Amino acid sequence: MNKDKIWLSSPHMGGNEQKFVNEAFEENWVAPLGPNVNGFEEDIKNYLFNDSSKEGAVAALSSGTAALHLALIMLGVKAGDEVLCQSMTFAASANPIAYLGATPVFIDSEEETLNLCPNQLRIAIEDRISKGKKPKAIIAVHLYGMPYQVDKINEIAREFEIPVIEDAAEALGSTYKGEKCGTFADYAILSFNGNKIITTSGGGALVTKSQADKEKAVFLATQARDAAPHYQHSEIGYNYRLSNISAGIGRGQMEALDKRVDARRQMHDFYVDLFSDIEGVEVFNAPNKDYFANHWLSVVTLDEEKTGGINRENLRLHLEKLNIESRPLWKPMHMQPVFENAPFYGTGVAEQLFENGLCLPSGSNLTKEEQTRIKTGILSCFNKQK
Ligand SMILES: *Cc1c(COP(=O)(O)O)cnc(C)c1O
Repeated sequence: MNKDKIWLSSPHMGGNEQKFVNEAFEENWVAPLGPNVNGFEEDIKNYLFNDSSKEGAVAALSSGTAALHLALIMLGVKAGDEVLCQSMTFAASANPIAYLGATPVFIDSEEETLNLCPNQLRIAIEDRISKGKKPKAIIAVHLYGMPYQVDKINEIAREFEIPVIEDAAEALGSTYKGEKCGTFADYAILSFNGNKIITTSGGGALVTKSQADKEKAVFLATQARDAAPHYQHSEIGYNYRLSNISAGIGRGQMEALDKRVDARRQMHDFYVDLFSDIEGVEVFNAPNKDYFANHWLSVVTLDEEKTGGINRENLRLHLEKLNIESRPLWKPMHMQPVFENAPFYGTGVAEQLFENGLCLPSGSNLTKEEQTRIKTGILSCFNKQK
């Protein structure tokens, strides 16, 4: 990796990752199962559920995308079904719907959390039902680590008896009303890709409500082998288990998670301070005390009329010249060529956010020097010194 480049979010090792990886080598557990896989699952489960009255289980998988795919399968989603999905998100939230031959129905965001809009969700459900098809599941995302409106979404899901899949890929360490993201829905998914708050180099997890559901997920993730001495299968299986080497990295990363959340939140404070006297730029914040974001990425929105003509693309290109990475918010799925035929319910909120929003470098490992470079770079874009 280019040392001079300041990345949006880069891997940050804690220290003990190699110890766990070495153990795997010493014991020859170089396979998609082993003590690190079990230990990593236990670590995540303890982290999510220890301070909670809720119960759950965790299956470590090869990616967050695989976890979403399995969650949809376990909810019985089949070809021709419809699945409701937050439009403003990473494509991985929606692609597994298409893997199953089902149709994604995209829903707009609201402005408080940038996530699934409860009003549009209700409108969509009622309309799909009136057209003769009740949606099979709702995929809600905690974008950039900001919890979605959990109570409202759950209330609607209960009213219409539609299960929820919680995409917590970006939200490990975030909480809503004191409960951890990843514990609010029928299934939740986590991601440990290289740019997430913790990484296993590549990996994910499915969080289930019961041990039995976890076992079913592991069964499907390991080629759906029936109990027999030979290889026998009565169901289609997948090769989705996490490697014991990757899980070793994950064990080391879990030890550092709390520190990573602190550091990301400090980066967010850094931007709040930096933009406090720049007119027309808003740093995206939690709507109230119920929401505790890990601030995986810090997000700003620019109002060109108030910044004196500087829009998000001006700022992005200015930073790019300084070798500082920034990126527009996720382009909504209903605007993507690949999903152009999918139904969408909304009023243009996600489109506006995509137009005006920018993610800024948010890594937990940004040095003081790098922070100074970011600060100077941003201020020079707005012709200010500090
Ligand atoms: C990263 C991410 C995923 C997918 O996780 P992978 O481990 O990369 O497959 C899904 N949803 C969201 C919102 C993500 O950011």
